[in-house]
Amino acid sequence: MNRFVAFKPFVCGPPQRNAFLALGPWMAEGYPAEGRALKEARRELVEHLRRSGYIETDLVEAAMLAVPREVFVPPHNRPASYADHPLDIGHGQTISAPHMVAIMVEAMEPREGLRVLEVGGGSGYHASVIAEAIGPRGHVWSIERIEPLAAAARRNLELAGYADRVTVLVGDGSCGWPEHAPYDRISVACAAPAVPDPMRAELADGGTLLIPVGGPYVQELLRVTRRGDRFDVEDLGGCVFVPLRGRCGHS
Ligand code: SAM
Repeated sequence: MNRFVAFKPFVCGPPQRNAFLALGPWMAEGYPAEGRALKEARRELVEHLRRSGYIETDLVEAAMLAVPREVFVPPHNRPASYADHPLDIGHGQTISAPHMVAIMVEAMEPREGLRVLEVGGGSGYHASVIAEAIGPRGHVWSIERIEPLAAAARRNLELAGYADRVTVLVGDGSCGWPEHAPYDRISVACAAPAVPDPMRAELADGGTLLIPVGGPYVQELLRVTRRGDRFDVEDLGGCVFVPLRGRCGHS
């Protein structure tokens, strides 16, 4: 059995279903309000994610410490920014739980200068953590199909200081986005019925695709590695994401 199977499976679904499944010690005395309190809550959350094994490397720890999740959370949910669960960002969508972002960023094995495609940009938070991990010489193209969410993500990225490292695109990314291919990494933050063939084709040789695949209620997080014309698939364990909609996704 691989290590992800033991993880909480509810990681990115509708917030009302997941909200209280993953309360950490930082929740015990209520949500911190703002400023220093939020920064302290971020540090405590990141420590908890490292102790729990979701964060494994100093690189991902530093990236998650650097990105202020509160900037990406709508004001009514801001006090909950450092609770380890998904939060509502409007239009029926969620910002993923921090532990799921940690799992996915670790699993992509980030390094300086990578070219990354993210499908399902949502608030822009996950893209910022990737951008921080791959440094200023790397770049993230992040596609979001819901226009107002893409507009909000651009504002969030501007505020958090990642606008020059993350390009937000609007449209159906379910078959990938050939314009900037090949990508060293593709990270899909919504659940597909199967691995879309065009996404495999957009991977650089040696590149990896992370994608939750399965039905509407539960999926497996897959890591597909391209080796020439061969594609090796690893199952990293159970997860729950909102559906990937569109031509290569769910109808
Ligand atoms: N990574 C995001 C963040 O940090 O806030 C959270 C992603 S949210 C769980 C999944 C997102 O995928 C939603 O915003 C949804 O609109 C988007 N989505 C679903 N199907 C899509 C598609 N075909 N192309 C682009 N985005 C899509």
